[in-house]
Amino acid sequence: MFVTQQSLKHKPKCRVQLHVHLDGSARLETLWEIMRQKGIPIPGTGSLRDLKESVQVEEPTDLNGFLKGFSVFMPALIDDEAAIERVAYEFVEDQARDSVAYCEVRFCPHLLSSSTGVGPKYLETMKLNGNYHDATTPDDMLKAALKGLHRGEVDFGTKIRVLLCCIRGHSQWSWDILRMCEEYRDQGVVGIDIAGDEAVLMKTKDKSVAANGEEFEDIDSHVFKMAKEKGIHRTVHAGEAGPAEGVEAALDNLHAERIGHGYRVLENPDIYERCIKEKVHFEVCPHSSYLTGAVNHLTTKSKRHPVLRFCEDGVSFSVNTDDPTITGTAMEDECRLLCSWGLSEAHLAKASFEAALHTFLPPEEKHALIAQLQEAFGIVEFSLPAPVQPQSPPVAKPAVTFSTWADRS
Ligand SMILES: [Zn+2]
Repeated sequence: MFVTQQSLKHKPKCRVQLHVHLDGSARLETLWEIMRQKGIPIPGTGSLRDLKESVQVEEPTDLNGFLKGFSVFMPALIDDEAAIERVAYEFVEDQARDSVAYCEVRFCPHLLSSSTGVGPKYLETMKLNGNYHDATTPDDMLKAALKGLHRGEVDFGTKIRVLLCCIRGHSQWSWDILRMCEEYRDQGVVGIDIAGDEAVLMKTKDKSVAANGEEFEDIDSHVFKMAKEKGIHRTVHAGEAGPAEGVEAALDNLHAERIGHGYRVLENPDIYERCIKEKVHFEVCPHSSYLTGAVNHLTTKSKRHPVLRFCEDGVSFSVNTDDPTITGTAMEDECRLLCSWGLSEAHLAKASFEAALHTFLPPEEKHALIAQLQEAFGIVEFSLPAPVQPQSPPVAKPAVTFSTWADRS
């Protein structure tokens, strides 16, 4: 074990990951072991293969179909601090193995604590029978995850920071999540996110009024405005299952500094043009974009994957795994998929630098990360744009002609 950790710790690391869910990254083997220990129902005969088949998605579906597997394995993690600490620790090991130098991992602590009302009915019965942990608070679960992540950082040499997710349709948690972002900012929490069904945000009109009388369309807009005022960084899931207008709303109402996914921005040339002008960074997740149906459902004429257009237009993007438990992929698989679509190693290197420039790290740590990447890529002569206000892409745009998405079917 010592040898493995040492070799991973000192392995050269050149990738930067900004969009990955902690609960969506748990190893299936670990989940299977915990589920069996607790007697949590596993579909089929209860084998590891059955668990894999019920959780992983191989063919494009829609976002709800993609996320269905979570309901199978989340009961393994809810209220279990030791389990989430273990998942967090193993997560860092997997990142190090995947050559990730720095990663911002996200999750919603409220989805891990039955005190908020989450979890299937049978958890209650299990608790009564003594087969299950007592209810925890979201703070307990965050602390446990941070503990595992910190141990992993020390052992495996990948730097990890945390983003806390609000969930659309559960805005009753959003103020508490903002409170946690502030309270744990010295312990590795660097930003806030919102995930979930984009259609909910469009539909809900739960107005929120600030003390100064300022009115907000919904609670989350109010929370994200406060996050901005408190200096808490913001990223927003948008333009994945929802339309391009969701990206615009993320920028205007939620003050997003980065967009999670954002593929459907291409459906509205004006909003796309604005994103180019404002140098918006997109957190691209290749396999998940395909499996959630986000790309197949694009209404653009060519149906080409938006990342190809981003490359051609010099749009800033990073490469991410999103939910490896569901996709069964690692960072290298994502990179390989992009290469099969026509991207080169130069694009991937550029994506690493773009990701580094758009991390939520303070300037001096951002500089250190960029220096680490320069060393990993062997780039000696390299003038850095100011990390606080990224201006130009760090690597010249490679001249590549892409085939169409349809050609690559
Ligand atoms: Zn996501």
